[in-house]
Amino acid sequence: MRVDKFLHAMRIGTRTQVRRLIKDGHITANGEPVISGKQQINPGSDTVFLDDVQVRYQQYFYYVMNKPIGVITATTDSAAKTVMDLFNTTDFRDDLFPVGRLDKDTEGILVITNDGALSHDLLSPNHHVTKVYEAEVTGEITAAQLANFNDGITLKDGTELQPAQAEIVQFHEIENFTTIRIMIHEGKYHQVKRMVGTLGERVVGLRRIKFGSLTLPVGLLAGNYRALTDDELTALK
Ligand code: URA
Repeated sequence: MRVDKFLHAMRIGTRTQVRRLIKDGHITANGEPVISGKQQINPGSDTVFLDDVQVRYQQYFYYVMNKPIGVITATTDSAAKTVMDLFNTTDFRDDLFPVGRLDKDTEGILVITNDGALSHDLLSPNHHVTKVYEAEVTGEITAAQLANFNDGITLKDGTELQPAQAEIVQFHEIENFTTIRIMIHEGKYHQVKRMVGTLGERVVGLRRIKFGSLTLPVGLLAGNYRALTDDELTALK
């Protein structure tokens, strides 16, 4: 693999920054100065240093994002802004993708990785990754209505849903809407909106606050992302 590609893939910098680091003599491979980005290295066996810090080979990357409203959960789109457009040029890799999907008008926690096996596990129906959403729902919702979800429900189109747990967070009397918290164990299309639809009400705001063992990090503003910590990753797996 070309050393400049390797350095960029390991998020050392943009292609331009990497070129500059090489030109300015900051990179060595197996103790020898690298003078051209075209130089071939074997990421598994060669030892590459940026000054006195080793650049270790990392195959998989894991991020947690607070997806904002108004961007779509996709890798590319000809018209709309995607969650991948929120990555800066250093972190961006074209093999990254979002794990699962949030609607354009939904915000909250989203995992982004290039680890296909982990994504497959997390989305697999057998794995039952729990997701928790806070939804703003039209009207005054009662605990009795939410109890309908406890044994699983069938949607209008015949889709059968597994049991889900929901509770009332707050009724906003003046604006006449209820904030509810709902925990689901699968990820069907528009699931929360369609569940609320069975109560004769509408979701007017939706935010995912938990995905499996991960909680939306406090202070991670909508539109921002950060790398998962080792502990977070271990717990998620
Ligand atoms: N349920 C929905 O209706 N929309 C989402 O984005 C996620 C869950």
